[in-house]
Amino acid sequence: MNPRKKSRTARLPGGPGDAVPCPCGSQHAYADCCGPLHEGAPAPDAAALMRSRYSAYVMGLHGYLLATWHPSTRPQQVDLDVDPSPRWLGLEIRRHVPTGPDTAIAEFVARYRLAGRAQRLHEVSRFVRVDGRWYYLDGDFPASGSMVTAACDAAG
Ligand SMILES: [Zn+2]
Repeated sequence: MNPRKKSRTARLPGGPGDAVPCPCGSQHAYADCCGPLHEGAPAPDAAALMRSRYSAYVMGLHGYLLATWHPSTRPQQVDLDVDPSPRWLGLEIRRHVPTGPDTAIAEFVARYRLAGRAQRLHEVSRFVRVDGRWYYLDGDFPASGSMVTAACDAAG
């Protein structure tokens, strides 16, 4: 028994707090999934960083979003206190493709409700690893409805 190595499939309802399902929808406990990343552990890959950033949106962790944003594209601040605020419903990572030793892309769909209406955010994000830590670089929005304006630059 190694008390530091926790089972990922806790069959018993765990103690308070410890077994809270992770907001990223991984089916793992928050403490075994995005929690350690939010506390400063490096993400093992870009997909894990993607999940932890989604969880940070759900939980309103502005600092984590900024800390995992590459300095070249990082905004001054992340405003999560918008009105009406989105209610995040789930994350689906469709693709995770390493594109080099320190670069990767991840395609995801995040679902949320805004003012009672179901919405989807479909993004292909680019990630880069610097000094062993993954950072979100930027993203493209595959042509699908409401997010097309962000793709105009690429269309030229
Ligand atoms: Zn998670």
